[in-house]
Amino acid sequence: MPADEAAGPERLYFQFLENGEWKIQSCTHCRRAVFYPRVACPHCGEDALEWLAPQGAGTVYSSSTIYRSPEQGGSYNVSLIDIDEGVRLMGCVQGCLPSEVKIGQRVRARIEKREGGARLVFDRMEAMPCA
Ligand SMILES: [Zn+2]
Repeated sequence: MPADEAAGPERLYFQFLENGEWKIQSCTHCRRAVFYPRVACPHCGEDALEWLAPQGAGTVYSSSTIYRSPEQGGSYNVSLIDIDEGVRLMGCVQGCLPSEVKIGQRVRARIEKREGGARLVFDRMEAMPCA
C-alpha cells in the first residue's frame, strides 16, 4: 500500500482533534471499534471503516509516572485507557498527581488544545480536578 494512503486515516484523526472532534473508526462489517487509525479493519480485514464519536468514558488499564523537575513542569503520568467502545489508547490523566492515577479508575476523555496542536487527555470521574 502507498505510504500516503497509510498516513491518510492517521492524518484525519488529528484533523478531527484540531477541529474539536474526537472520532475513532468502527468497522461496519464486524461492528468492532478500531484504534489506531488504519485503512482496513484489523479484526476482519475489511476496509469498511467509518468514523464515529465515542461516548468518552473509559477505565485506567495502566499508568506510568514520567519524572521531571518542577522547573520543567513537574512529573506527569502516561496512562493506557480502555474506552468503553473496546479499544485501548494512551493519554495523560489530568488534574491530579501521577500517584493518584489508579488502575480501574473511571475517566472521561477531553480534547486539550495547546500550542502546536490538540491532544486527547482524561479527567477522573470521581474526583474534581485540583486545578
Ligand atoms: Zn471488521
